[in-house]
Amino acid sequence: MARIELKNLRKSFGAFDVIKGIDLEIRSGEFMVFVGPSGCGKSTLLRLIAGLEDITSGDLVFDGERVNNLVPSKRGIAMVFQSYALYPHMKVYDNMAFGLKLAHAGEDEIRKRVLEAAKLLQIDHLLDRLPKQLSGGQRQRVAIGRAIVRDPRVFLFDEPLSNLDAALRVQTRLEIAKLHHAMNNVTMIYVTHDQVEAMTLADRICVLRDGKVEQVGTPAELYESPNSIFVAGFIGSPKMNFLTGAFAGAYGCHTLGIRSEHIAVSEEGAVWSGTVVHAEDLGSDNYLFVDIGATEPVIVRQSGKLTIPYGTKIGLVPSPENLHRFDERGLPVV
Ligand code: ATP
Repeated sequence: MARIELKNLRKSFGAFDVIKGIDLEIRSGEFMVFVGPSGCGKSTLLRLIAGLEDITSGDLVFDGERVNNLVPSKRGIAMVFQSYALYPHMKVYDNMAFGLKLAHAGEDEIRKRVLEAAKLLQIDHLLDRLPKQLSGGQRQRVAIGRAIVRDPRVFLFDEPLSNLDAALRVQTRLEIAKLHHAMNNVTMIYVTHDQVEAMTLADRICVLRDGKVEQVGTPAELYESPNSIFVAGFIGSPKMNFLTGAFAGAYGCHTLGIRSEHIAVSEEGAVWSGTVVHAEDLGSDNYLFVDIGATEPVIVRQSGKLTIPYGTKIGLVPSPENLHRFDERGLPVV
């Protein structure tokens, strides 16, 4: 386990500032997820922690020790990438054992650790295969296994599931969550684009924007109490509805935000009325896209099967306790 502190951390590539002064503490044993728009610096931040990029300024501290100048192999980290980066000519066993061999571990010790990790990941029946004889999900488990055997104090994941199909993503996501518990809650830092991965895996999520931290909090804190319109719009799927102009003015704000599940369809007490212009039926849930005369249709999430046909005129009732009001700077109105 390791406690990681980033103190005014900065990274520039030439004249281009990518990481612009990040202060963040990652607790020992915590599962921290980095999210943010493409290009905001998520991977760069992970690579700074790993030691794969030089820090321009600021401090990186592991368990009280400044590690800015410590080489990657001495940091006690293991990294799992989107591309599995397995050695194609080596069997699964040798792929997993490789790092330990380099570190001159004994044969018995190597065998014990590889078998333990393989068992944990349920790939113990695949140890004699070559990577090309594995499915994508199995390959990614081997890559994770290779990281586990080195007994790292910090696990770094850079979009590890993005090459997998939908069903495998769900399964491997569960395995990563189980792994976090099984490994005595080793510290994990995980970069993703995927809302569901972020919400389900994270103890805390760090939302990055343009090289800076926008907000850090538990998934529920970010979902329920975003500290800016940016976080409100970024966390959650479907995206929070934003209404401006007279719709917001009626609530004394510049932009009114409301999530799709906090709007009810009802003529009685209707605050807005509009026409169903599109709908998506997910089986368990459905999303109505309702044109109420705002810039974009309002998305309303209902549970159960879709029963309202396109073109129907309906009334909408936003739940008063779940409104998010933002001022002209995009900050919450208090
Ligand atoms: P994505 O979600 O698209 O993977 P990201 O948030 O992980 O993006 P980074 O890969 O960290 O973003 O890149 C942040 C910025 O730094 C980008 O504008 C990128 O072009 C730039 N960048 C990254 N590596 C280098 C490099 N070696 N040299 C110059 N610029 C770089």
